[in-house]
Amino acid sequence: MRVFCPECGEKARIQKTNRISTSYADLYCSCSDPECGHSFVMNLSFSHTLSPSAKNTNELVTALVKALPHEKVKEIHSQLAMF
Ligand SMILES: [Zn+2]
Repeated sequence: MRVFCPECGEKARIQKTNRISTSYADLYCSCSDPECGHSFVMNLSFSHTLSPSAKNTNELVTALVKALPHEKVKEIHSQLAMF
């Protein structure tokens, strides 16, 4: 991952990562330009899902089925019986 110095625009190095959780980290950075010498903290955080994790497929289907009216559930049940 490329980080740039917000003061001078030069490349910066990530010196240390302080992982707060699986979806948030503080990145301790320093500018690579010795004439600048800026050191700073950037935030790395989860934004949003584009495609759901395959590991959660069962939970996803269960939640969707629970949200459906009883008649629709019966309809899906008979459709699944065809497989
Ligand atoms: Zn700089």
